[in-house]
Amino acid sequence: MKIIDTHCDALLKLQYSKRIPFNKTQLRFNDSPELNTNLQFLKKGNINVQFFAIFMMPDVPTNEKWQHALEQIDIFYHEIIRKNPEMKHIKKWQDIKDLKEGEIGAVLTLEGADAFGNDLAKLRMLYQLGVLSIGLTWNNANLCADGVEEPRGAGLTSFGKEVVQLNNEHGVLTDVSHLSVKAFWDVMEIAKYPIASHSNAFTLCEHPRNLNDEQIKAMFERNAMIHVVFWPPFINHERNDATINDLIRHIDYLCELGGVRHIGLGSDFDGISSFVTDLENASKYQNLINQLLKHYSEEEVKGFAHQNFINHYVKS
Ligand SMILES: [Zn+2]
Repeated sequence: MKIIDTHCDALLKLQYSKRIPFNKTQLRFNDSPELNTNLQFLKKGNINVQFFAIFMMPDVPTNEKWQHALEQIDIFYHEIIRKNPEMKHIKKWQDIKDLKEGEIGAVLTLEGADAFGNDLAKLRMLYQLGVLSIGLTWNNANLCADGVEEPRGAGLTSFGKEVVQLNNEHGVLTDVSHLSVKAFWDVMEIAKYPIASHSNAFTLCEHPRNLNDEQIKAMFERNAMIHVVFWPPFINHERNDATINDLIRHIDYLCELGGVRHIGLGSDFDGISSFVTDLENASKYQNLINQLLKHYSEEEVKGFAHQNFINHYVKS
């Protein structure tokens, strides 16, 4: 079954291997086993569309962040799209419909508005370069909002609101994964196209990165998608291991809250350091699908795998 995966950090790993080569060799998108989302794994797992996040660690000095973002965008265009004819850059959501058999769509996203500081010209450039989804923060604070681990817990700044409005005007998604609870509610008031690209249910696993019941219900009422994430500490409280059934419990719970048509998948591969057993990289994706098919109808599983996202965001 075809998969749409709304979050991975392969660009960061590829960029770091260029700056500081592992074992003196650079990682290759095509087949380096150090990548959870290399091309061979994507093919084997039947990934139809993979999102690639531009992301920089908080220790990157402010004045170097834009440079880091550009390096990752260059890797997206040069190493992922240009070198692999089967990889197709999704520049607008409708392009997903035009993918041919054997082609894999690649979506460029941004995780953390730190990349463009207070410079809206840079944000507009990101739209021009094909960024289709913007997460305002990672875990810390920036000029737009506070992230989940910022003790202050503040909401959107005026600048952050301006960024969400610009996303709305450009038809770009505003990603609420990583936002502080207050910033989440501020975004919900103004975002036309909210999404949680990689978040689970707080009630099942009390981690601040997960969404509480009120947040989940608000997302579903606003007709927004929540994509479950595969990192064990977001699945099982304070544990570094999880089974596929543990992950499915989060899908069950989101369904109980009315989300059967609002659930998708957002692995966070290449951004995570431990894995769900039998779901260690993109090639293993069908293990999850086969297990889901034991619990849900084929139509429902198709929804989680790709169709719900298409119904929400890809206009026919
Ligand atoms: Zn993340």
